[in-house]
Amino acid sequence: MYCESLTTYRRLKTREVKVGNLLLGNGHTIRVQTMTTTDTMDTMATVEQSIRCIEAGSELVRITAPSKYEAENLQQIKTELRKRGYTTPLVADIHFTPNAAEIAARIVEKVRVNPGNYVDKKKFEQIEYTDEEYAEEIERIRERFTPLIKICKEYGTAMRIGTNHGSLSDRIMSRYGDTAIGMVESAMEFLRIARSEDYHQIVLSMKSSNPQVMVHAYRLLIDHMMEEFGECYPLHLGVTEAGDGEDGRIKSAIGIGTLLEDGIGDTIRVSLTEDPEFEIPVCKDIVNRYEASGQTTAYQLPTTNLPYSPFEYLRRETFEISNIGGKHVPVIIADLSKIKKIERSHLQDIGYSYDVATDKWNIGDAAADLIFCNEPLDFDLPGTLRVLLYHEAWRNAPDKEKYVPLFNVPQYLDDNMQRSSYLKFVMVDYQWKDYAAELGEQLMANLKEDKTAVICFSSTNKNAMQNIRSMFVDLMNKNIKNPAIVICDSSDATIEESLIHYSIETGGLLLDGFSDGICLGHHFGNDSIAPQIRMLNSIAFGILQATRTRISKTEYISCPSCGRTLFDLQETTARIRAVTNHLKGVKIAIMGCIVNGPGEMADADFGYVGSGPGKITLYKGKDVVKRSIDSAIAVDELIGLLKESDVWVEPPMITA
Ligand code: SF4
Repeated sequence: MYCESLTTYRRLKTREVKVGNLLLGNGHTIRVQTMTTTDTMDTMATVEQSIRCIEAGSELVRITAPSKYEAENLQQIKTELRKRGYTTPLVADIHFTPNAAEIAARIVEKVRVNPGNYVDKKKFEQIEYTDEEYAEEIERIRERFTPLIKICKEYGTAMRIGTNHGSLSDRIMSRYGDTAIGMVESAMEFLRIARSEDYHQIVLSMKSSNPQVMVHAYRLLIDHMMEEFGECYPLHLGVTEAGDGEDGRIKSAIGIGTLLEDGIGDTIRVSLTEDPEFEIPVCKDIVNRYEASGQTTAYQLPTTNLPYSPFEYLRRETFEISNIGGKHVPVIIADLSKIKKIERSHLQDIGYSYDVATDKWNIGDAAADLIFCNEPLDFDLPGTLRVLLYHEAWRNAPDKEKYVPLFNVPQYLDDNMQRSSYLKFVMVDYQWKDYAAELGEQLMANLKEDKTAVICFSSTNKNAMQNIRSMFVDLMNKNIKNPAIVICDSSDATIEESLIHYSIETGGLLLDGFSDGICLGHHFGNDSIAPQIRMLNSIAFGILQATRTRISKTEYISCPSCGRTLFDLQETTARIRAVTNHLKGVKIAIMGCIVNGPGEMADADFGYVGSGPGKITLYKGKDVVKRSIDSAIAVDELIGLLKESDVWVEPPMITA
């Protein structure tokens, strides 16, 4: 297995690694870190930004070293920081330049190397290797990588072998493709060499901009390390090129949190296209959830012969009921039950706008599929929208198809209860004391025979995600194919914490193929409810987009920027977002440099990449289509490219 327990929060046991004075792994607190975005040759700017990151709580600071000059300048930066009393360990970020790594390893406490480009120069070539040729390549890597290991051993420097999904070498791509297993093998080749030199101060990472690939790669890596070495090295978690704002936070929380839920991860970075110090509060909101250990589930998940694979995405098989389950995308239920009197205008916050003149509803791409209310509404609803009511209220509803009943378990098991013959929801809470008893068995037997019942799972336990996963596994083991939805409530004090909570609790389940829908609830304070409903709807659609289970908007893959960045990434991302955010399903990468950008933009459909001061190169997939164009016209050129590629549509008219 890939973790210590699937039902109880327990940290994965990893080797202890020392980075300067900081201990990582072996049960030590989950460390948070970030990376500077300044030019490494600008000593004072890098020192000042490092200090802002450290003051925000960063326990390691990574700085890019693209050539030997920047690597040498790390000494100036380190000296200045120490002079000002900051002892936080520094990490040199290396791509393509072993000579820079060998200099940096003598100066800073840790070096990060990318096995995809440390020795290999990526040419995007498909080459067939015989086993002999492949072994020769590994020998070539050994020759080039061993000197760095020897320096690290001599200077007590730690190392991260940091694999990125988008920058696998041509050799790995040729044999394994652009896959999670390819990422694992890429790291394992370097790890084997390090171990053969008896060097163990190693941390590993498996980053991807796609949380699904990222989660599978980490799980597989653990599985492979245990199989081959009988032990694990500490893991640094991150979703790379996550983007900015709400989407970047959701993506990061899903990828990182899904692993942390199972006790995986010794250090994390949330990569946002924002100033690096803003990443730290998000990191803290994530790791704070794991300070105390979780509660055990009553239903014990079998740890062998799982009915699903944690290493690949396959949606749980269900039959469809109306537009739920089967091949339908996961639905979203908007919880409007806290609104005293629901008006038409409230539906605007969940994607429906009403035009009085034509008496028609317009349905947006991010329109909730059902609403949960306390009583029937006194206006006509948009055609596709259904209303979920507690069973008692549903009995008075005028239209028994438009309104759908929600049963608790005793109501559902009571044969005398009036039932909807069309669609019904049954709430099953993990804390229900009879879940694992006879009554639970009866419930499952009834559900199995009921082709109109959608299950709603919830848990308020600390390890709720593990609880709900247990119940999904129970359904699979009992061959129950009713669709099931996850209800996730939050009582977190801030919306930032709630966003992390929702993303982790529902995202982890969606990544394992488990949910046919989500409903996010919040215990509102005295604040105005409408903006909060809008925000929850946006978060819900963001979660489905990030797990790639339901695409409702444009996807942006933007690098966090670093000392290599050739333009203002934040400003440019905002400009591109403003003109393309209506292109549902199109993936646009915005990358700061041509050295790493094309490799790291993963599965983007289009790329906007800095290729020199004031110059941009545009990509379609992995192919260059416009080289070194003036940045002043580059956004217009991108729109031109989108038009030529038939993915452009005119933005909708905004009416007052
Ligand atoms: S792609 Fe962005 S973060 Fe990565 S090296 Fe280039 S500028 Fe830095």
